Amino acid sequence: MMGKNFIVVAMDGGAATGKSSTSKILSDRLGLLYVNSGAHYRSLTWAILQEGIPLDRLEKIEAFLKSLKVGVKIEGNEAHITLGDPIPGKEIRSQTVNEAVSHIAAIPGVRKFLLPHQKDYKKLARQHSFKGLIMEGRDVGTVIFPDADFRFFLVADEEERTRRRQGEGQIDSIGKRDRLDKRRENAPLFLSEGAIEVDTTHLTLPEVAKELTDFILAGIK
Ligand code: C5P
Repeated sequence: MMGKNFIVVAMDGGAATGKSSTSKILSDRLGLLYVNSGAHYRSLTWAILQEGIPLDRLEKIEAFLKSLKVGVKIEGNEAHITLGDPIPGKEIRSQTVNEAVSHIAAIPGVRKFLLPHQKDYKKLARQHSFKGLIMEGRDVGTVIFPDADFRFFLVADEEERTRRRQGEGQIDSIGKRDRLDKRRENAPLFLSEGAIEVDTTHLTLPEVAKELTDFILAGIK
């Protein structure tokens, strides 16, 4: 790790464990491009629902994916997926998307469709002169970047996570999504060997961010 001038940080974990907030702070502090891979699945889910395709019509879903024009938009430190016009907005965090997203994310064809796009962010971060890439999700450290320099896995009690989502005004079936994400055959959510587990239940966001920043800085010195 000595003298590394470009790092990849994988931030995995269940819903509402603090991945997004922590990743955003780390991206600011360390000059990393931030990518929320959950938003990729949410955007596709939203587009599929807009199209009126039933979630169990796999062949229709896969044909629809082929028709999409996938792109990237960089805003500040953050890169967003785009699916042609219009760009998916706040709707991707709606209750309807919350309820459907884990079903869509379990479809092998959907994951296969997104994987090359997700791997490309490393090149994009270099091209745009970032000091690295931080990507959050469920399979970032296991499938997308198993060779990431830092692989974190955030956990928190379900009660505390539900409270956090409610504080954000969101209705989210956290436990149900986690169970689907952990039990699926393709790229399930799990703590892989070598990943660093951080329990955020009793920590504030600044505490988590400091712990991980210090860990990374110590690792790259
Ligand atoms: O991170 P977020 O909760 O927004 O992710 C929404 C859903 O997208 C997850 O519940 C999961 O089903 C799926 N996802 C995934 N793999 C990722 C990121 C998200 O399957 N890398």
